[in-house]
Amino acid sequence: MAMTIERAAPPREDRLQAGTAYCGTCAQLRERLGRKDGGCFNQANRSFGQSFGCQFTLSLAMLNTLRNTVVIVHGPVGCGFWSVGGIGATRNMKRLRDPAQGSTIQISTNLDESDVISGGETKLREAVIYADREFRPEAIVVTSTCVPALIGDDVDKILDELRKDVSADLVSVNCEGFKTKLMATAYDAVYNGILKNLSKKKTERESLVIPDKLDDILWNYNNARTVNVFNVGSMGRPDELELARLLTALELKVNFIPCFASPKDFRKVLDAALNVSICGTHDDYYVQHISEAYGIPSIIDTMPIGRKGTGRWLMKIAEHFHIEEQAKLLIEKEDAALDEALEPYRKILKGKRAYISGGEMRIFVTAELVNDLGLEIAGLKSHHIDHFVEPVLDDAPVSGDTCIDIASQHPFEQANLLRKIKPDVLLMHIGGGNFTAKHGLPVLPLFNPGFNYMGYSGAFEIAYRLKRILSNSQYNKNIQKYRPLPYRESWYEKDVGAYIKE
Ligand code: SF4
Repeated sequence: MAMTIERAAPPREDRLQAGTAYCGTCAQLRERLGRKDGGCFNQANRSFGQSFGCQFTLSLAMLNTLRNTVVIVHGPVGCGFWSVGGIGATRNMKRLRDPAQGSTIQISTNLDESDVISGGETKLREAVIYADREFRPEAIVVTSTCVPALIGDDVDKILDELRKDVSADLVSVNCEGFKTKLMATAYDAVYNGILKNLSKKKTERESLVIPDKLDDILWNYNNARTVNVFNVGSMGRPDELELARLLTALELKVNFIPCFASPKDFRKVLDAALNVSICGTHDDYYVQHISEAYGIPSIIDTMPIGRKGTGRWLMKIAEHFHIEEQAKLLIEKEDAALDEALEPYRKILKGKRAYISGGEMRIFVTAELVNDLGLEIAGLKSHHIDHFVEPVLDDAPVSGDTCIDIASQHPFEQANLLRKIKPDVLLMHIGGGNFTAKHGLPVLPLFNPGFNYMGYSGAFEIAYRLKRILSNSQYNKNIQKYRPLPYRESWYEKDVGAYIKE
């Protein structure tokens, strides 16, 4: 039976028993994940915390990438304001897919104190009508912030009533920040809106002028070789091109969604032969639903980062199409070319100690990659933890004693951990560079949509960038000297997880 699509996606604390508070060794983490009760990660909390992200902001980041779409932020103007800084980069990424694309169009209903008393429904109706008449988009997406949820605006009902008056598809995304501490719930919230409103029925075949048997054969052949690859906002066009290169070498056709897709692409999704996730944390809600509802097989396993991750990812796809031998030959050829290219870098990087912080899947596959370059893993920090990490954790090149902190932000714990483990280089989730630089160590972003991290070419680019940042970290040393971190010595004497309540 297919999953029921509710008005809003449930918080991941409930759906996946995911947690955001843990500190211990990788061996202890393995043991807890293996327990029948799932380790009860979501029972843990902190008696003191600095900050955690809001799911609305991550939803907006994903939705801003959609082409031919207007995004309406239903809430106070401040909720969407943070994303304005990234709009230029998002526009450029859109244009790498389609040079005719304009900028992201975002409208705020600008709810204020009087709307909290009288309701925000009138403003929302006006905004939807304005967006449709002014911009003629394929879709209008309405994102709900905390305020309309608290005052009881029924966004789904308003959009139902407006459908007859507008030409665009209307999509409601219920992603109020207060509902979860787990920012990754944002992915489910966005997919919930897409499932309710866009991925509903298969496309009609675009037939030739006189449909004939050949037309049918081509249609079926193309669909039978088409793979939907679920991209993530943290990957850029260079990553897509590398994955497309590898899958094309296996004679497969690739369709990238959801980031930078057009609304109509979510209908085409239902014609493909296979759905392949790049990161289970990102896609399971959507992929599981369309697998169950439409019978499209899916793969959620590892990320195609590093030699091992990429090889494993390719082999899983090859197994589905029964082309394992072809895939093995491709992997051998790519491995040999990569080895030759990495040789000079391995000599320089050997024995350096890395600390990696970011999403649960990404940190473990990146650990494998940097270990392949000769680095040791000194410590890890993940935004949250759930069962999707299990396949990559078992293969990760970490010792049982390697410390892992599960914390959505909370930079004070990171400062304490880094003082204790003393790494040589930090691989960090983008956006935390300002306080991370104060450690005086070289920092490589864990992702950057302008760089290539995935596949074989990505492994080479990371080696090149690591060598470059390790050769001169004077800038961050100066930041540490003149703008030190604000914590007292007494904090560094405590355990990293001193404020975590089990
Ligand atoms: S927590 Fe609520 S009010 Fe704050 S930014 Fe997120 S959606 Fe807006």
